[in-house]
Amino acid sequence: MQRESILNPGSTIGIIGGGQLGRMLAISARQMNYKTIVLDPDTGSPTAQVADGQIAEAYENRDATRELARATDVITYEFENVDADSVSAAAELTPVHPSASVLRTTQNRIHEKNALLKAGISVAPFRQVESLADLKNAAEYLGYPIVLKTATEGYDGKGQAIITRAEDIEHSYELLASRRTQLIVEQFVQFKMEISAICARTSDGRTATFPPAENIHRNHILDVSIVPPRVSDSVIENARLLATDVAVQLDVVGLIAVEMFITKENELLVNELAPRPHNSGHYTMDGCDTSQFEQLVRVLSGMPIMEPKLHSPTVMVNLLGDVWEDTDGDPDWARALELPGVSLHLYGKAEPRGGRKMGHINVTADTVEDALYIATEARDRAWRRSRA
Ligand code: AMP
Repeated sequence: MQRESILNPGSTIGIIGGGQLGRMLAISARQMNYKTIVLDPDTGSPTAQVADGQIAEAYENRDATRELARATDVITYEFENVDADSVSAAAELTPVHPSASVLRTTQNRIHEKNALLKAGISVAPFRQVESLADLKNAAEYLGYPIVLKTATEGYDGKGQAIITRAEDIEHSYELLASRRTQLIVEQFVQFKMEISAICARTSDGRTATFPPAENIHRNHILDVSIVPPRVSDSVIENARLLATDVAVQLDVVGLIAVEMFITKENELLVNELAPRPHNSGHYTMDGCDTSQFEQLVRVLSGMPIMEPKLHSPTVMVNLLGDVWEDTDGDPDWARALELPGVSLHLYGKAEPRGGRKMGHINVTADTVEDALYIATEARDRAWRRSRA
């Protein structure tokens, strides 16, 4: 593998997508005096608020991605639903990490699962669905419950239906088939825990994987990440190794977040990949000696990456728009911040809607139990729900 030239501080990183991940990446970049330019149509987006420059155009506008490429030294993207062809167009002018090919694989669940199987990595049994008859046959083969998902554009549980009995098949099929994307159906995994790990890989093939996180979802949206996870050290180590293996096998340069199920037999099945910083890695901002965002800046600039270490048990809780809605737009931050070890991260989104990720709280403590208690209590206090 070729060693790419090193981009020194003062160089410019292009970020496709203006959400919170781009914002936190831009903040880390600025810490090391890299400049950032964001491509996003919204001039008030979380990333635009902190970036050095913006191209306010749609992501699928190829002229815009080329303009971004001409104005920057390296490009990355902060969400998967960008047009892979416009990413390829940018890559003709400036290095893009992870590559357009990694993006293509990970933005389609069917491609992703086939790539994992080819790499010898276990996933939940699945079938591609092209018709109602396919779905009926797959249900017979897989057994209930099953999860029907759109192959593309699904996130935070959008574009998913759990089917528990044959009577519900037609309704669920019609619901998701109307979205006009390919469909995939998976066996419902009776997991004992969900866990994720994020691996950073450089263009010369070095890897460093963050300590895995135990993830608890509510309404399909990540609610809490607990580090270290409350399972045996050997399972945690296996999760870390699996994430590293995925990064190597898919030839990822950048970050890859690997979400996994731990089965009752302690087997790891990969559920989903994300070629970017990940919500379950936000804990690294306060719990590790380097954050996922700093690590990505290092990869993008060709600098050495760090072998990240957890310096204390850490819990992250997401702050959704509901916290604002339920407090008439006035969460009680002062009471939340009274608690020890609490760090507040807000994304600067103007409109707090229910289910929308507005920020997160990280808590470091001596034990994972203390961190979990304090993090939940801090959020309840902000939410004006706590009586403590
Ligand atoms: P995904 O969009 O695939 O990450 O799914 C969101 C969440 O839905 C996962 O984190 C799981 O909690 C749940 N889920 C998705 N697929 C399955 C499955 N095959 N079995 C059990 N739970 C699932």
